[in-house]
Amino acid sequence: MIIQLDKDISTDQFDKLQEKLNSIDYKSVKVSTQFQDYIIGVGKKDFDIRAIGTMEGIKDIHKVSDAYKLVSRKWKVKETQIDLGDGVKIGAGAFQIMAGPCSIESEAQIESTIKHLVENGVQIMRGGVYKPRSSPYSFRGLGIDGLKLWYKHAKANGLKIITEVMMTEQIEDMMDYVDIFQVGARNSQNFNLLDALGKVDKPIMLKRGISGTIDELLQAAEYIFSNGNEKIMLCERGIRSYEKAYRNTLDINAIPILKEKSHLPVIVDPSHGIGVRKFVESVALAGVMAGADAVIMEVHECPEKAFSDGQQTLNYQESVKLIDQLKRTSAFRKEIGA
Ligand code: PEP
Ligand code: MN
Repeated sequence: MIIQLDKDISTDQFDKLQEKLNSIDYKSVKVSTQFQDYIIGVGKKDFDIRAIGTMEGIKDIHKVSDAYKLVSRKWKVKETQIDLGDGVKIGAGAFQIMAGPCSIESEAQIESTIKHLVENGVQIMRGGVYKPRSSPYSFRGLGIDGLKLWYKHAKANGLKIITEVMMTEQIEDMMDYVDIFQVGARNSQNFNLLDALGKVDKPIMLKRGISGTIDELLQAAEYIFSNGNEKIMLCERGIRSYEKAYRNTLDINAIPILKEKSHLPVIVDPSHGIGVRKFVESVALAGVMAGADAVIMEVHECPEKAFSDGQQTLNYQESVKLIDQLKRTSAFRKEIGA
């Protein structure tokens, strides 16, 4: 059960609500986000919600029986839109492309990527400065200095930054240089990190775990929301299956399912989703047709020389083609009423 509180609920009205919840054996948790105050009531007893809905100080009340609640569409029917400022919006009809290298490597690479993105009307640049790598001997990123360098160039060119945060301790240092914090697949259920990201007023793109279910992804998003941050996007990036012909199995099914279960924007990552450069185009377009609100993809001037994930990274020529196809596909989807 989700109870939305009036902004000016009095202590007396609040206490009466608590008493009411206690009387029906409901455990209650108060959630205050950048937008609203809520009480989440968890209990077994079935009762008429109007008994609470008509109390003073209550704005609205909804029954949500799923394990995740605030991210559910059962209480918020309208799609959430993430506003990054300067007219850059994601979700609720606003389509975006996020593109850039797997890893930020050098100033020259940053400049070259930015030029490519600006020329092609992409407003959000991706790139990792803290890289989760299977091997500890692989390139693990330029760290905070790389982020600061990247930010200087991105800001000068009006680009927004999405980058992965791996540890709670990194959040504060990164905060001023990031427009969207990415939670990677490996950290999808790092509940301490999710708790901490719930306490910042910055959009979060939460990736699905490598073997995470849709339900687990939504419950992970609930951690962020219930700690106070409503600005969340969900990302389908492929799951591990028995198939060996490609890197991951992009779960196209998850896109319409997530959009039905949740009001949050859904992003598709075709690069990690299939992991094979020549098929990125097909699955990216499929993701948009399935309803993704944005595509996040890996692009590099010379993928063969990329420090990480070159095998799934598009060169500029391929990227120009796909950016155009994505924009047209998004428009086409609206045109046919899909
Ligand atoms: C990435 O975006 O570069 C990345 C490491 O993604 P994932 O967490 O999905 O593997
Ligand atoms: Mn990558």
